[in-house]
Amino acid sequence: MNIFDQLLPDDHEQVTFCSDKTVGLRAIIAIHNTTLGPALGGTRMWTYASDDEALRDALRLSKGMTYKAAIAGLNLGGGKAVIIGDSKKDKSESLFRTYGRFVEGLAGRYITAEDVGTDVSDMEFVRMETKYVTGISQALGGSGDPSPVTARGVYAGIKATMHEATGSDSLKGKKIAVQGAGHVARYLCEHLNNEGAKIFVTDIFEEKVKAVLASTKAEYVKPEDIYTVDADIFAPCALGGIINDETIPKLKCKVIAGAANNQLLDQDKHGKMLVDRGILYAPDYAINAGGLINVANELEGYHQARALKQADSIYDILKQIFAIARREHIPTYIASNKLAEDRIAKIGRIKQIYAGASNFVGRLGEMNTKGK
Ligand code: NAD
Repeated sequence: MNIFDQLLPDDHEQVTFCSDKTVGLRAIIAIHNTTLGPALGGTRMWTYASDDEALRDALRLSKGMTYKAAIAGLNLGGGKAVIIGDSKKDKSESLFRTYGRFVEGLAGRYITAEDVGTDVSDMEFVRMETKYVTGISQALGGSGDPSPVTARGVYAGIKATMHEATGSDSLKGKKIAVQGAGHVARYLCEHLNNEGAKIFVTDIFEEKVKAVLASTKAEYVKPEDIYTVDADIFAPCALGGIINDETIPKLKCKVIAGAANNQLLDQDKHGKMLVDRGILYAPDYAINAGGLINVANELEGYHQARALKQADSIYDILKQIFAIARREHIPTYIASNKLAEDRIAKIGRIKQIYAGASNFVGRLGEMNTKGK
């Protein structure tokens, strides 16, 4: 395996391999781009079949974070880490503290958070060794569960997408099919219900749906029927890859706008299929950026009210994406990538002054006062 050849295609800045035999740590920290600020992204713990697979995942995910931070207007770059191991068996205080010392060694070029396979308690061990960690509990001054802020951003994004598709952002009386009744969907359904939307919701677990039905006027549909609901909006809030050859022909909606990551099974193919079917797609990493906005707020002293207000800006971000897509006759997911890349390119020339997180905190403060 030629490591540098793997970094070149997407222009990754730095990859750090972390190893400690005593505690059984094997981790890779990938920093894709720090033009806008230090790289922030979670630490995934996964039973990768090979080191190569782990590296590929770290490279892919860190690049995604660059785009998500850029589109959200944050002064952050893109990074992600992977720990090779079984999150059910291999976790220990010593593992995460050792990992925390590697994060500390990067001196703020990379700031971590929880991700698949890691949780708040793991990040609290990391925090014993480094201040470059977010996603810790509210009791320790952290931001806690990001779902309310993600849901607020998705709600704003649904309204923006409906405005683009129909000329009105009112959701009163609009029919919306929500796939998944988990953390984000539960808060989202409350916003939709308060505005008088007609909600159809599904989940593979009955108790999750019951919680939504108890707090809203939503109607239950079976998981396999969610695609064919006669709805104005389809909001995927469960899994990735659900916009594909099989599901696109079934959809009756005008708009797809929801929280799930990696909704398009194949970006190019399925993004274009949606355009052909006249369905407007809200790019997933733009509409669900509330989660990142939430942890970014933690870096300067967390206030949920500020994070929620910042998540409302997703409305304007999506309107900008749609304007580019309309003007340049390109699918919305390409317009979103372009907007993110243009922002980075404009700042690229001052990259050398960004040394670490202390600069970042000042710049996030600046953004919060100017950017609303
Ligand atoms: P969650 O695990 O709490 O909820 C997901 C729900 O989907 C679960 O209740 C699960 O039972 C259900 N589900 C799984 N397969 C299903 C299927 N085939 N049909 C119907 N329901 C199914 O997760 P969450 O935190 O609410 O996140 C939802 C999505 O949003 C995920 O894709 C996540 O990556 C993404 N996201 C979440 C956040 C956040 O702040 N939590 C931020 C950004 C993106």
